[in-house]
Amino acid sequence: MVRAARFYEIGKSLKLEDVDIPEVGDNDVLLKIKAAGMCHSDIHIIDGVIASMPPVTLGHEIAGEVAEIGTNVKNFTRGEKAVVHFLSPCGTCNCCLAGNGMICENLFVRPGYGFSADGGYAEYCKVDAERLVHLPDIPLDFAATLGCAGITAYHAINNKNKLDLMDDVAIYGVGGVGMYALQLAKLRGARVIAIGRNEEKLKMAESLGADYVINASTNKIKDEIKKITNGRGVDVMIDFVVSDESIKHSSSSLTNGGKMILVGVSNKPISINPQVFVLKEFSLTGSLVGNKNELIDLVKLAKSGKLKSIVTKEFALDDINNALELLRNGKIVGRGCISIQ
Ligand SMILES: [Zn+2]
Ligand SMILES: [Zn+2]
Repeated sequence: MVRAARFYEIGKSLKLEDVDIPEVGDNDVLLKIKAAGMCHSDIHIIDGVIASMPPVTLGHEIAGEVAEIGTNVKNFTRGEKAVVHFLSPCGTCNCCLAGNGMICENLFVRPGYGFSADGGYAEYCKVDAERLVHLPDIPLDFAATLGCAGITAYHAINNKNKLDLMDDVAIYGVGGVGMYALQLAKLRGARVIAIGRNEEKLKMAESLGADYVINASTNKIKDEIKKITNGRGVDVMIDFVVSDESIKHSSSSLTNGGKMILVGVSNKPISINPQVFVLKEFSLTGSLVGNKNELIDLVKLAKSGKLKSIVTKEFALDDINNALELLRNGKIVGRGCISIQ
């Protein structure tokens, strides 16, 4: 028997249970989990904002060591380190064929590790070998966080929004995804303004390369942005919060023709003034997680040293519910990670 933290019911803590080691199918790999990053989506699942399929082991930022391989698996060997791309696009629908696996028409009827299939808050996890990415010698807690925070940031910057050199980009929200997004925007040559409420998080954003930081609680976001951009406004606003407040600030801080990209997952209706979108030709788009090839790119970036880890806190698996409470209350700066020996 091995340990797993399982989700049963909306509004309830995860249950720590002893479960059987998963049996490996012909196309599967059994991972001995070493690190599982903690994402705000876990809180959304527990609160019922994001649908899942309980009972299920949560944790979708998963890195570990290959412990066993199915008979058909040829490209992984025991003892090798790997990170999981947690969603399973079908590869055959129109969206997949167009290279947009993240909006695969069949995404939600296929395994999503840590959502609809057992994920990483456990000692072992079974995954389809196709969902695995080889890892070079980088810390496994860092690697785990690339699996969601990393690719979500990369997809928003790289796919939805090929930034131009010297674009002015605002990152609204300096949680884990925002911390990677600001680094990636800097690597693309943009000038980056990070917006958040927590001074400690804003300090971290600065240390990771943000050119300017704005504390949202001062309520002077538009004025500060106009000052920084000589009255012009930012070219791109990437919104990791998504609320009436963030949309209001975004639409008053964009330059004409600017882009607003929504990444934060909220199911609360927001109000916008459509006129401003027409008169200033703003565009508004959503961006969802990222593709496996983007995870492969990120692993290379991490190995090169250009992308820095945002993991600041490690917790034991048995401490998961306390750790998730800290996350819920905004007490984790960067990313928290469950570390398993
Ligand atoms: Zn996530
Ligand atoms: Zn598909």
